[in-house]
Amino acid sequence: MTDFQDLAARFRFVLARTSHPGNIGSAARAIRTMGFNRLELVLPARFPDREANALAAGADEVLVNAGVHAELVDGLAGCNFVLGLSARRRGVTLPELSPREAARQALAAAARGEQVALLFGNERSGLENEELARCHAMVRIPSVDDFSSLNLSQAVQVMAYELRMAMLGDELPAAPPEHDEPPADATQMEQFYRHLAQALDDIEFHKGREPTTIMLRLRKLFQRAQPDERELRVLHGILADAQRMAGLAKSEK
Ligand code: SAH
Repeated sequence: MTDFQDLAARFRFVLARTSHPGNIGSAARAIRTMGFNRLELVLPARFPDREANALAAGADEVLVNAGVHAELVDGLAGCNFVLGLSARRRGVTLPELSPREAARQALAAAARGEQVALLFGNERSGLENEELARCHAMVRIPSVDDFSSLNLSQAVQVMAYELRMAMLGDELPAAPPEHDEPPADATQMEQFYRHLAQALDDIEFHKGREPTTIMLRLRKLFQRAQPDERELRVLHGILADAQRMAGLAKSEK
């Protein structure tokens, strides 16, 4: 494999809750033209579907190999860097990148050996906060304010194009490694968030308050920190001890 293919293989395009199979086909074509192959579908309304194949216009192999998942975290398994494309700023404020800057950072991550996901939302509702909470940054294509939403597959095309331009550019990353170890992947982060949620329950942190907002905030904090596996192990250890102490305190009562 050439370097280019090596790098491109570290990217995946993840479509969450796509309504129209035609958009899945168009997205397959869009990424294939730019040298990418990997499409992951999370709860597509209809797939496989003739319309998807019709619009893939020959990029059928991308569709054949597309993963279909019931949970977003499975579509992101193995990913160390996740970028969420969104036309609108949502409740959870993530760092916002232009497609060009996002492509530069994504390519640098891939050059360090990390797996990168570009995550796209549903045609009508876009990405939900729960989905954006799994991202390290948000990418907004700078469309006009009063008509900001692109067709899903066209947004995929813009991002895939920027990635290809970044790869073709001569500033190909001699990026110094930012991490000694790669950041934990989406599955490991999800396990950590589950443990964190359980531990917060066990130590009675919420005191009757609704945990959703605080959990989104904590996700944002840890997504920004990008802990590696070793650091996650320490955090798991702390949580386990807190749970153990809470258990002791309860049994003494
Ligand atoms: N009303 C929705 C639009 C969804 S369009 C919203 O405001 O988010 C379907 C998907 O295409 C979006 O979830 C996003 O991933 C992508 N998309 C469309 N327009 C975009 C834009 N201007 N910038 C970034 N992503 C965009």
